[in-house]
Amino acid sequence: MGQKLIPITVAEGDGIGPEIMQAVLHILSAAKAPLDITTVEIGEKVYQKGEKTGISPETWDIIRKTKAFLKAPITTPQGGGFKSLNVTVRTSLGLYANVRPCVSYSPFVQTKHPKMDVVIVRENEEDLYTGIEYRQTLDTYHALKIITRPGCEKIIRYAFEYALANKRKKVTCFTKDNILKLTDGLFHKVFEEIAQEYPSIENEHWIIDIGAAKMADTPEAFDVIVMPNLYGDILSDVAAQIAGSVGLAGSANIGEHAAMFEAIHGSAPRRAGKNMANPSGLLMGAILMLVHVGLPDFATLVHNAWLTTLEQGIHTYDIYKENISKQLVGTKEFAEAVAQRIGQKPKILKEASYGEFNAILTQKHESKQTGIHKTTQGIDIFVDSNQEVEELEKKLTKVQDPDFKLSMISNRGVRVWPVKMPETACSDSWRCRYIASKKGSNLSHHQIARLLQKFADAQIDFVKTEHLCSFDGSPGYTLAQDEQ
Ligand code: NAD
Repeated sequence: MGQKLIPITVAEGDGIGPEIMQAVLHILSAAKAPLDITTVEIGEKVYQKGEKTGISPETWDIIRKTKAFLKAPITTPQGGGFKSLNVTVRTSLGLYANVRPCVSYSPFVQTKHPKMDVVIVRENEEDLYTGIEYRQTLDTYHALKIITRPGCEKIIRYAFEYALANKRKKVTCFTKDNILKLTDGLFHKVFEEIAQEYPSIENEHWIIDIGAAKMADTPEAFDVIVMPNLYGDILSDVAAQIAGSVGLAGSANIGEHAAMFEAIHGSAPRRAGKNMANPSGLLMGAILMLVHVGLPDFATLVHNAWLTTLEQGIHTYDIYKENISKQLVGTKEFAEAVAQRIGQKPKILKEASYGEFNAILTQKHESKQTGIHKTTQGIDIFVDSNQEVEELEKKLTKVQDPDFKLSMISNRGVRVWPVKMPETACSDSWRCRYIASKKGSNLSHHQIARLLQKFADAQIDFVKTEHLCSFDGSPGYTLAQDEQ
């Protein structure tokens, strides 16, 4: 096996973090994994020093240099403007793919789904996780769901490359594009496009609600599932839990310049310092890291030693069961048991083998959207008003502009003018849609600014605007319910 040391950064984290990290490093050392480890401090202690992100500027440089980061869980302080370190690391380093294998280890770990072997590939940078939210009026709050074409292309291509590299047969896409026609619609569309580049891999799309129900009921129907950030966050925990335990799953956060590997659970402060915690989730993260840094043989060695330990019934408290387990052990003893089994292979559980593949290619170029003709056909003006729609409409009649006509007013997405729905409950945020009075014209910024000036003159409290653009004739906005 190669002797060149691969540099990695390690952070011991908080709560049970230091114990499980020591356990994992003990196993990696027993396997003689050729790693050059730099240890950094992140989390609670760094937050306490007043660093709101929980990570210091020097640490960024170390992670960037080593490129691979094995991170134990950290405790995020409540309130006080502290930011989630995980989200900060993912977005700052461009770790766009979150990969979480969810495997059952039946009959050694209890599960209702003994054949489950699903990998969730979650988009990691976009969607509602950009955290752009506004209180628009007294009663109305907005969050922006951002989905971009390059973001979709990167994560979907990654899912197919992962499937190829791991000899997986099918990639499934989950979206809610029957409702979110533009954002999730784009994710689905890009999935269909990229799937064509991988004819050897089966592909399918499910609407997320029924897809999630199917996954929770019959996970063996799925192989690799790719989805936008928020759905992936929720469903990857569901998948890990139904496989047997969230305590046994690790995840990889992959970017083009760096990657972070971790357990999916938190710092479990109540278990800290008691030599009780199960280090398996972090060990699974470390195995994903070994594959990523080009040490697949060591990944195989460690994974098989771990599977052997599991099937010999040597279990920590969280998976210990009277009639299945043979020995209840603490964190250290479990790590020692795995270390002693380096070189052994499981007899009943499926043997791990990472022999043939390396890190997945992620640097394919995204397509550039060029030559598309954009025209501005109108504007949505959001108005803060606690009056009835009739009063608002009266006010709007003061705003007359030859280039625009008011086409509708909607409230919470339901059209309430010109046709009123008496049953519709209205909030204090009204979307007033103005479209070009001359069909097909391309409105200028000056025309739009002039309209807004008239709103200001009429003392109408407008709080947000959205341009209604059309791209090669196809509208870049959705219609309100019932809008023609
Ligand atoms: P948690 O995952 O830390 O604990 C949930 C439960 O699972 C606890 O009852 C704990 O006893 C058990 N548990 C978790 N990991 C275990 C292990 N390895 N072995 C045995 N039992 C284990 O979730 P929480 O209590 O909601 O969060 C605690 C802290 O962790 C919070 O500050 C949270 O912000 C943080 N957190 C960090 C990460 C991360 O760094 N990746 C992820 C999630 C939560």
